[in-house]
Amino acid sequence: MARYTEALCRLCRREGMKLFLKGTRCYTEKCAFERRKYPPGHHGHNRAKLSDYGLQLREKQKVRRIYGIMEKQFKNYFEKATKMKGVTGENLLKLLERRFDNVVYRMGFAINRRQARQLVRHGFFLINGKKIDIPSYLVKPGDIIEVVNDGKEKEVIKENLALAEQRGFPVWTEVVVEEMKGKFVRVPERDEIQLPVHEQLIVEFYSK
Ligand code: SF4
Repeated sequence: MARYTEALCRLCRREGMKLFLKGTRCYTEKCAFERRKYPPGHHGHNRAKLSDYGLQLREKQKVRRIYGIMEKQFKNYFEKATKMKGVTGENLLKLLERRFDNVVYRMGFAINRRQARQLVRHGFFLINGKKIDIPSYLVKPGDIIEVVNDGKEKEVIKENLALAEQRGFPVWTEVVVEEMKGKFVRVPERDEIQLPVHEQLIVEFYSK
């Protein structure tokens, strides 16, 4: 099944929050959600109140869209999360945060997860000295990620890093901008994953 390609800003408006799917634009006044904070379509202003099921579904879709994951794979993450120790909803988010494309984005090598996925697929990064081009690869504490490619994309990555440095890097990473490398120090705690989502609703969605 093809990856979702509908205008990305519509997804933010549908979910009623900024999903930061585009990159730099998301942080400016050009952001479509800042200008139109209502769902897209003719009836966007008059959406009916959602049922419990509707709320759970929306929350699941929201998280799936943030990380850019198809339904089947998302469900696999959920099943994996149920088998882990701890709180299932939190485990789910922690697994998603460990995805290679997400870590590349969080470390500032890419402006959004979509670009991160593309860069990973094109083999621009090493993990612990080994080329890995699988966006869903789960990064482990202590892993070192570095840029290897010398093409024009290296300049793009450098610019991305400079912007990310201004915003600041997550505390669970150590990024050395000049060397274009970063360490995944540890799995983030739930309160360090700054997503305004209610993951318990996703647990309820899949528990029916
Ligand atoms: Fe969402 Fe705004 Fe970024 Fe568009 S620009 S993807 S509406 S956060």
